Amino acid sequence: MGLIVQKFGGSSVANAERVRNVARIVTDCYRAGNQVVVVVSAQGDTTDDLIAKAAEINTRASKREMDMLLAAGEQISISLLAMAIEAEHCPVVSLLGWQAGFVTNSTYGSARIRRVDTVRVKSALDNNNIVVVAGFQGLNRRNDITTLGRGGSDTSAVALAAALHADRCQIFTDVEGVYTADPRKVPGAVKLKEITYDEMLELATLGAQVLNNRSVEMAKKYNVELEVLSSMKRAPGTVVREVTRMEKMLLRGVTKDANIARISVVGVPDTPGIAFKIFSVLAAKNINVDVILQSIGRKGTKDITFTTDGDNGQTAVEVLKSSIAEVADKTIVCDTNVAKVSVVGAGMETHPGTAAKMFEALYEINVNIQMIATSEIKISVIIDAADADKAVEAIHAKFFPVVE
Ligand code: ADP
Ligand code: ASP
Ligand code: MG
Repeated sequence: MGLIVQKFGGSSVANAERVRNVARIVTDCYRAGNQVVVVVSAQGDTTDDLIAKAAEINTRASKREMDMLLAAGEQISISLLAMAIEAEHCPVVSLLGWQAGFVTNSTYGSARIRRVDTVRVKSALDNNNIVVVAGFQGLNRRNDITTLGRGGSDTSAVALAAALHADRCQIFTDVEGVYTADPRKVPGAVKLKEITYDEMLELATLGAQVLNNRSVEMAKKYNVELEVLSSMKRAPGTVVREVTRMEKMLLRGVTKDANIARISVVGVPDTPGIAFKIFSVLAAKNINVDVILQSIGRKGTKDITFTTDGDNGQTAVEVLKSSIAEVADKTIVCDTNVAKVSVVGAGMETHPGTAAKMFEALYEINVNIQMIATSEIKISVIIDAADADKAVEAIHAKFFPVVE
């Protein structure tokens, strides 16, 4: 007996058969004596399709109207799932984000959850209902619909689990758990039994889309234990929690993020204050900068290169050109044909040679490294996007050799 939050992603509810399959998982859990809250995403590619529909009408649509449109996807899936649960003869009620009490800030397109007022969900549970909640959406102070950003239903589920003090938060998806690399791309990827919040946060931030990074951040903050598991196959998944291991494993995974832009500002004056100006102007525009490289000054000039999200590349160039006098007449190159490949593991700091091993794997397949960034828990390289998949595979094979 417990209170369980179960989240199902888009592929898990993609068609009628899968919706019925989810209804069976949910009602089994309910019939076993649990209170069940279910968070669902839009079916299959619905969100992408809605984005494409909007682009047919207006490629510069406001974020408010985009949120109004995209939130519709989840409204379809909660009602269909509730109908499938009704067909299983269990009491159920579906709720949109605002009905379930999701209050967010007003950053349309990537809103942050301020709080979840759980009165309605709790009373529905007290009346013995299964409660099906639309993920990805909330309401701001102006009573406008907001969305939490792509993959945001994971965060809805964790927020609800935290607010309800749920006993468990299960994230059902189309793979059996968190793997050492994307199991769809790297056949030798190994399923992890458990992983710490910090490691999972790095994996998610560096491109492992199996969990949204904000959901992991929130799970860590509110100490919500997550289980990532398959909706298609009943098998134990991966548990994300604070693990104290006797000996930390060297590496947890290899990731790829192809949504990257590399921007080079060429030949700026080699004087104090240039980096400050560049990065403060970008920060003021909310443009997140990741890896930074500055060349040694030669003949009074230097180059500054950095990476940002692929979607921000062009804006970054325009902002720099228009706001900094020393940059206005300089060449700025924006390259989006790059990817970031990273290895992640909390044990890395105490194991010398990890970087060398990673670079050796890249050398063996003749891949050139453009930039390198390290922290105690990860090493990232920026490489040509066309090399990214084979790089992930080669690095993975180096660190996780197949045992015959
Ligand atoms: P959902 O629709 O359930 O939210 P997502 O597509 O967002 O599912 O996330 C699941 C996908 O994440 C998997 O199909 C898999 O291809 C991908 N993925 C990337 N890296 C990893 C990893 N390290 N472990 C597991 N899955 C991963
Ligand atoms: N439907 C939204 C998306 O496709 C939210 C989610 O799936 O988590 O990004
Ligand atoms: Mg997802």
